[in-house]
Amino acid sequence: MKTIKDINIQNKKVIIRCDFNVPIKNGVITDDNRIKESLKTITYALEQNSKIILLSHLGRVKDEESKKSKTLQPVALRLSELLKKEINFINETRGTKLENAVNNLKSGEIILVENTRVEDFPEKLESKNNPELANYWASLGEIFINDAFGTAHRAHASNVGIASHLESGIGFLIEKELEAMKLLENPKRPFTVILGGSKVSDKIGLIENLVKTADYILIGGGMANTFIKAKGYEMGKSLLDLESLDFCRKILSEYSEKLIIPVDFKGSIEVSNESTVQNCNYNEITEDFIALDVGNKTVELFNEFLTKSETIVWNGPVGMFELSNYAGGSKEIATHLKNIKKITIIGGGDTAAAVIGFGLKEAFTHISTGGGATIEMLEGKVLPGIEVIK
Ligand code: ADP
Ligand code: MG
Repeated sequence: MKTIKDINIQNKKVIIRCDFNVPIKNGVITDDNRIKESLKTITYALEQNSKIILLSHLGRVKDEESKKSKTLQPVALRLSELLKKEINFINETRGTKLENAVNNLKSGEIILVENTRVEDFPEKLESKNNPELANYWASLGEIFINDAFGTAHRAHASNVGIASHLESGIGFLIEKELEAMKLLENPKRPFTVILGGSKVSDKIGLIENLVKTADYILIGGGMANTFIKAKGYEMGKSLLDLESLDFCRKILSEYSEKLIIPVDFKGSIEVSNESTVQNCNYNEITEDFIALDVGNKTVELFNEFLTKSETIVWNGPVGMFELSNYAGGSKEIATHLKNIKKITIIGGGDTAAAVIGFGLKEAFTHISTGGGATIEMLEGKVLPGIEVIK
């Protein structure tokens, strides 16, 4: 597969598909990791004196309101700060303003085009890989570089569509992500996966594939509640995913020795930092208890399995880490992973944000920028955004 280094991009118009899909609250970017991870490719293209056209999506656009609110403007500002360079932000995804900007683009200059998913309303042109749209975007450049790992599991106009019209390669970020995933093809064993997050239903495909390849699966987060319930215990007012109960029962009975579920929880009577934190054993949960983190004994149990593992993948925080009272389980596990120095890969946007927030970024072998893309790779699926370049 061609990478950006295999293509002569000098003084050429290069379209780089980035993944700038970052969380933004009230116009402020709350986690800029994905922007930072895109810098290597952009900087390289600048060094090659390319004329750079950046494309990315941001969230979902499904009405007139989100067409305006899901703007990449804050990304343009942050990117400009990080690169210490002017970014010409074009608040359109097609038209004369964009075309003029592209025609006037000089070597070493950067244009950022508005959120590609503006093209998803009223019709899903971007997300359905509309050929006319892909052709139009491709007509703006000479070379296409895909560096949006987080979108690689989707066949959209801005990643798959464009690539079929132009000489294409992958950027440094996708290259790094694929190298990290290679560590999992023949993992050093024991190979252990920590799974968390809120719902089982989001991760059924992942669990089905991992029970075949992993030695242990440690289950935390909201999804653990449904497993406890499937064993016949009550979870009070905790988040449950009742439609996944049968799946949990089945997988527990088939893989009882691989699936490690919590033995205790931290929680309270409300989802906030205001009320007192209680630690409850799994079989003693009261009617009004809401489980919000794994308990102390569970952290110890999980850490024992991690100590004897050689390769560890982590997808999904084991607690509601956004509330400081319930970040402890994830933080203790992250700290333990730092100390035991094994091959450690983080897949999942929230998990990445959590460990970076704990100041433990350097402790991991690799922190993936892909949530869904990483999951689909772990499920054994091919990623269309990468296939098209092959
Ligand atoms: P990732 O983005 O890393 O794949 P997910 O999106 O699957 O992770 O899950 C992250 C979400 O799971 C977080 O918003 C977190 O608050 C939530 N979560 C974790 N534990 C619980 C819990 N016990 N109850 C409810 N939500 C939880
Ligand atoms: Mg998430």
